[in-house]
Amino acid sequence: MKIYMNNNLVDASEATVSVFDHGLLYGDGIFEGIRLYDSCVFKLDEHLERLEYSAKAIMLEMPWSRQQIADAVCETCRANDLKDGYIRLVVTRGVGSLGLSIKNCDQPQLIIIADKIQLYPQEFYDNGLKIITVPTRRSNPAALPPAVKSLNYLNNILAKIEAQHLGYHEAIMLNDQGYIAECTGDNVFIVHKGELITPAASSGALKGITRDTALAIAEELGIPWREANMTRYDVWVAEEVFLTGTAAEIVPIVEIDARVIGDGKPGPITAKFLESFHRRVSVEGTML
Ligand code: PMP
Repeated sequence: MKIYMNNNLVDASEATVSVFDHGLLYGDGIFEGIRLYDSCVFKLDEHLERLEYSAKAIMLEMPWSRQQIADAVCETCRANDLKDGYIRLVVTRGVGSLGLSIKNCDQPQLIIIADKIQLYPQEFYDNGLKIITVPTRRSNPAALPPAVKSLNYLNNILAKIEAQHLGYHEAIMLNDQGYIAECTGDNVFIVHKGELITPAASSGALKGITRDTALAIAEELGIPWREANMTRYDVWVAEEVFLTGTAAEIVPIVEIDARVIGDGKPGPITAKFLESFHRRVSVEGTML
């Protein structure tokens, strides 16, 4: 496997980072997860825009243009002979001294990994997924804006551990006011009385690219949508619930905290979203 590091494609065995990289020492960096469908990179420009916003928010000056990064992404996919896969783009603060100050970090590091994707089992889409709410909260936006896709994922990892210990694959995380923020790696949507509702970014949700696609699908289907504060009660009594994410795409949820959602089967509106999503991935990408 070839990995893109700074300006070169290197063998995976040689793709190593310094122990003085602040990405490793402090989680000081940002990332994106992107999908490749049939030799087309899905929503590449949107991912690179979010990467730029993340960089701006943490005051990390990227010395590469959007086009240069886009070219590097495509080059990495081609070098690995990939047609379908998952692309992980990481930008670290770079090598510095043993201190929090970014003053000695002169050279941010760009890493691109393009690999086959580990998909959720088909059964999750056919029968729906059961999830729970966990105690670990999403970061308070005043501490670390969740809209920044940073290398600090420890609270999401703790939430995932809590879910997995109880035999679940995904977990709903609340914000520090007790409203639903999102799942550990996916956004949450409910369908209630004909409306599509999802937490706002200000509730602690990442502005997911798949979330945006779901909102565009709602427009296409003529389903009214809005952002709102949502409690656990709201998801328990929804007719349908689904999650969105780059890797997961659109996953129906059939049980939350032991409450059956709707009739316990993936709902008809969720099915329409999935169908439209699959149609879009083949036409809305950047060709390699
Ligand atoms: N929330 C979190 C915390 C995430 O890490 C992700 C990305 N896996 C998402 C939501 C979904 O965002 P996207 O649709 O851009 O993948």
